[in-house]
Amino acid sequence: MEDCIFCKITRKEIPAETVYEDDKVIAIKDINPQAPVHVLIIPKEHYDSILTVPAGNCIISDMHMVANRLALKFGIVDSGFRLVNNCGEDGGQTVDHIHYHLLGGRELTWPPG
Ligand code: 5GP
Ligand code: ZN
Repeated sequence: MEDCIFCKITRKEIPAETVYEDDKVIAIKDINPQAPVHVLIIPKEHYDSILTVPAGNCIISDMHMVANRLALKFGIVDSGFRLVNNCGEDGGQTVDHIHYHLLGGRELTWPPG
């Protein structure tokens, strides 16, 4: 995906503060953090959203495992955290490359706005 901002980040064409990387997933600090810990967990392969990941593909569980590791790394396992996927317009998705937000380090309100 030539113009996708997260594809550009995974190709290192745009700088980002990387906090985790393996062959399938990259995790970066959000440019506009909404909590003391706000990390984006992004698969290197482009999918527009959670709706277009093929059945049987392991990328969702891979992303969850990265979230667990990062929660440990950032010390938010005991205090708690939120793992969020925004999907589509009403869901608040602004970048059409699937990603999870890992948020923590403060009390998060529910329901979200
Ligand atoms: P969404 O609204 O699609 O769920 O989340 C997109 C997130 O990407 C937003 O929280 C936004 O701040 C973040 N973001 C957008 N562009 C960039 C960028 O160039 N670098 C980083 N690190 N985060 C970005
Ligand atoms: Zn992309």
